[in-house]
Amino acid sequence: MAEVLVLGAGLGGLSTAMLLAREGHEVTVLERDPAEPPRAVDAWQAWERRGVNQFRLPHFMLPRWAAQMRVELPEVLDELEAIGGLRMNALAALPEARRGPLRDEDRRFETVTARRPVLEAAVAAVAGRTSGVTIRRGVATTGLLAESFAPSEVPLVTGVLTEGGRTFRADLVVDCCGRRSALPAWLEAAGARAPAEEREDCGFVYYGRHFRSRDGRMPQILMNPLQHYDSVSILTLPSDNGTWSVTFTTSSRDRPVRALRDPERWEAALALYPLVAHWRDGEPISGVDVMAGIEDRHRSLVVDGRPVATGVVAVGDSWACTNPSVGRGASIGLLHARCLRDVLREADPSDPEKLVRRFDELTGEVVEPLYRATLWLDRHRLAEMGADAAGMPYETDDRRWAMSKAAFAASLVDPELARAYTSLASLLVSADELFADRALAARVLQLGSGAPPYPLPGPSRSELLSAID
Ligand SMILES: Cc1cc2nc3c(=O)[nH]c(=O)nc-3n(C[C@H](O)[C@H](O)[C@H](O)COP(=O)(O)OP(=O)(O)OC[C@H]3O[C@@H](n4cnc5c(N)ncnc54)[C@H](O)[C@@H]3O)c2cc1C
Repeated sequence: MAEVLVLGAGLGGLSTAMLLAREGHEVTVLERDPAEPPRAVDAWQAWERRGVNQFRLPHFMLPRWAAQMRVELPEVLDELEAIGGLRMNALAALPEARRGPLRDEDRRFETVTARRPVLEAAVAAVAGRTSGVTIRRGVATTGLLAESFAPSEVPLVTGVLTEGGRTFRADLVVDCCGRRSALPAWLEAAGARAPAEEREDCGFVYYGRHFRSRDGRMPQILMNPLQHYDSVSILTLPSDNGTWSVTFTTSSRDRPVRALRDPERWEAALALYPLVAHWRDGEPISGVDVMAGIEDRHRSLVVDGRPVATGVVAVGDSWACTNPSVGRGASIGLLHARCLRDVLREADPSDPEKLVRRFDELTGEVVEPLYRATLWLDRHRLAEMGADAAGMPYETDDRRWAMSKAAFAASLVDPELARAYTSLASLLVSADELFADRALAARVLQLGSGAPPYPLPGPSRSELLSAID
């Protein structure tokens, strides 16, 4: 069994720590933010988490995340529900006229979701009770301890340096420092080659706002959580303890819509969308929280077939992060953590090169396809938003994009396809798996291919811009 250091006590770090500790590894989690998780009822207001930029931005846990948790860490779901997490079924929530009567197999669409601070409070509570996990908050990693026996050798990471000059040693260091992880700089300082990094040059901007119910009732759900309209997307997310959030997502290149950061204009804009306008009828519990510069980024620690260092791996957002409006980060991070757990069953840290290689291979086989599929979606959606802003139709030779647009349109009129589309959005199947069913693909084309680019009722771009001008 290994001594493992996990850097970062976010969703990925804590999940990784619990999975590894249950295998018998001794896991210490080092978290830069000093604040202990407060009582769950205070988490939203009081928990200071500077290390997670998106801490007060809308989150929704996909059925894929809940399905994995049910198998691996069911106590997290129990804890989340106990502190007010919302158990819901992503398909059952849709109007019956669209999805038809419920079936047994629709249970796969179940999830438990919450605002991010509440979610993290639940995960932290279970991690804190997990034998073999020690969480040390207020300990910021500043660099790696590494050994290399010759200048040409790949450095072996043996621990970390922290602020104040303390050192922690381990058989394996797992970087879970999130989107802004400084791992490449730490590796360079340790004498390693640079990891291979891919980064998109443009991303999304989020304008999100949370509400609390005034009378205990939640807004009626008329449509899937993520809806695309002319030049913007809107996310409507039910959440814990009678709260919910609404978010506009735009391209970071689209300047005129930046007025959405102003709460009055944000409200005026929302009023234009008949399927979601009623989601503003609650008590606002936040202003309009803005997060920009959200791009897709992927990092590999094996370059040209050789690890840049051994004794260290990156899990979750530190490895790859994607556009959050599709809500996949936690599901992908958990899958990645499970891969690391599985690799440690077959590759001991005493063979550090094998461990890093095997983890890289398994990441490529199991997790990377989800990253690539999300990147594909983001590129098309950003390009489509760009075309909208320029007043042009979005044209592409990529027939899979047309297919995915048709699948949404068709899901509005066919209960079977409402299930198919919800499976895709829940990350329960991939588009390739879904459309491999030829009968289903033919039905998608028959019902959806003639649909307008935005089949949901909403304003044109010029109407939106005049409302927020
Ligand atoms: C706007 C937005 C909305 C999102 N919505 C969703 C959603 O609806 N559903 C979903 O599944 N995902 C969503 N995500 C993605 C999700 O938040 C991330 O995938 C998830 O938090 C990644 O977990 P992580 O542990 O890898 O990183 P994080 O949760 O970011 O945690 C990183 C941790 O590392 C700590 N840290 C950083 N540097 C150091 C250091 N030097 N030393 C010690 N500790 C350090 C930080 O303080 C932090 O605690 C969203 C993301 C954004 C940006």
